[in-house]
Amino acid sequence: MVAAVRAETRWATRCIPIFLAAAVGYTTYVFSKRICVDYFLRHRQQTGPAIALLVLHFTFLCLMVATYFRVFLVIQYNPGVTPLGPLAVEREEREKEAQKNRTLCGRGRGREEDLEANSFDAYWPDPNVDSPGLERFYSKSVFICHTDGRPRWCSSCYNWKQDRASHCSEINRCVKKMDHYCPWVGGIVGETSFKFFLQFNFYTAVHCITILTASAICLRSSIKDGALDGFVVGAVVISAFFGLFTFAMTATSARYACVNLTNVDYIKSKTLVHQLAIQVPRGTAPGLDYSVITYPLPKPDSDRSINQSPTPPTTSEPMSERDLLATRTFAVVKTEKGENPWHLGWYRNWKSIMGTNILDWVLPFNHSPCEDYENNESFYEMGPLIQELRRRYHLPEMPLNEKGGLELREPEQRRSGRGGVGGASNAAL
Ligand SMILES: [Zn+2]
Repeated sequence: MVAAVRAETRWATRCIPIFLAAAVGYTTYVFSKRICVDYFLRHRQQTGPAIALLVLHFTFLCLMVATYFRVFLVIQYNPGVTPLGPLAVEREEREKEAQKNRTLCGRGRGREEDLEANSFDAYWPDPNVDSPGLERFYSKSVFICHTDGRPRWCSSCYNWKQDRASHCSEINRCVKKMDHYCPWVGGIVGETSFKFFLQFNFYTAVHCITILTASAICLRSSIKDGALDGFVVGAVVISAFFGLFTFAMTATSARYACVNLTNVDYIKSKTLVHQLAIQVPRGTAPGLDYSVITYPLPKPDSDRSINQSPTPPTTSEPMSERDLLATRTFAVVKTEKGENPWHLGWYRNWKSIMGTNILDWVLPFNHSPCEDYENNESFYEMGPLIQELRRRYHLPEMPLNEKGGLELREPEQRRSGRGGVGGASNAAL
């Protein structure tokens, strides 16, 4: 479990479910007893509408409760945080140890410890050319990068930041496809919980509309009769408040799902420029409007660096054939403002989050398909913008023997006398 850093947020997150349970208990009592039984059944003698309203009410109540527990449990046990770097793990252990000592000694946080924690941020980013986790990026064909061609770096988690991950200051961790911190559902809404969050908001909005409609009819009648029921007024206020709130959240979340943006993306979507490392053939020289970077990164004493030829360096130890084939060159290019590299078209965007069929869309069982997408190409399915960027920057096409994992098969092809592009391609098929 990943708890909020600030005590007030932790307490709000713990108390809100109790408040929600009280609101649901209250409206269920008023709707079932005072509206359906007392008003529709006894007062107006309308059995059909009373039963229909009760069925609607409990159907959406069950769906609302089920989706709430689904989103709450996912957020508690699988919030989609990315791993901490080795030094961040060390820092966490140090902080736990210091906390234990403070509790034992009964004293406050020491200035000395604060200074020690701050000095940690000086390591930005990891200068190690064989930094753990770096290979996960350059083994793909495209990833989000800094101007220098290295992946984005999180100085709090002390780790490379995966595409579409953002650092959440509330829990002090990077979260995949972070949307927002929501104490109403128990924590951070991100890749693993967004689908269930949208479903929960939708069912709550429909549930509230059912209560609001029936209680408004009941209230109008009781005003005519001159006998205002305070319980029904309470139900109108609660259902109107939560109904409006969740309707707005449903509409906003559905819109994000259709355009494949998170709340974090959307805030800066009009002005954000993405910087991408796109794989190009080994040996590609820098262009007029793009630089190139070659991985694995050169050792400090090597001649190779960004914007230099990615051909093997002339060092005392020549590169092995395997190392040469594992070498990958990337062009560092920029999108225009507001362009979204993950935009697949609204229907495919929607399916990548909500699932591939209607049952997936309405039931809170299966996770979003985008959680399992990662492959040799990219962390998430990329849209047509990548091909457009290749054309826009006149990037050379990738030869077949450099695509995917083919280069690692090449030595075998040569040994077996079936070398060349065609042989490698057939072997891959
Ligand atoms: Zn982080």
